[in-house]
Amino acid sequence: MPIEKNKVVSFHYKLIEGDSELEQSHDGDPMSFLFGHGGIMSGLEESMAGRDSGDHFSVTVPPEKAYGYRSPDAVQRIPIKHFGARNRKLKRGDVVPLQTSQGPLDVTILKVGKFMADVDANHPLAGRTLTFDIDIVDVRDATEEEIAHGHAHGPGGHDH
Ligand code: ZN
Repeated sequence: MPIEKNKVVSFHYKLIEGDSELEQSHDGDPMSFLFGHGGIMSGLEESMAGRDSGDHFSVTVPPEKAYGYRSPDAVQRIPIKHFGARNRKLKRGDVVPLQTSQGPLDVTILKVGKFMADVDANHPLAGRTLTFDIDIVDVRDATEEEIAHGHAHGPGGHDH
């Protein structure tokens, strides 16, 4: 059945930038999401409309439909003690969770001083144009419960 609002879509992906593969899902369960509810990046969701199981395609997604643009405000100098038990091992390039008032946020360590660390809270893929290689594995009707929750349940979906 073609992909449209309130279908649960299962898919595998490869995320490619230039000649390198950054991520892929083929080693595990496919990803599942409820179409039409904003559960995945908009550029990817739009590219799947009307597709069907067995379809294979590539889509190139600009930053505004992927992880957004980099914000200079997201680069900050913060006390190392805010990292808790991890504070002795921090080094440049590490991606570590930081407790914020909005909950844990993954940040990339830019520089470590004695008491302070410079961190970048931008998503590592922010500002980048991404190409995805997509395999649609399955399309099914969502249950009423999934539609009420606004997300897919089961393998590759929401587990609660
Ligand atoms: Zn749910």
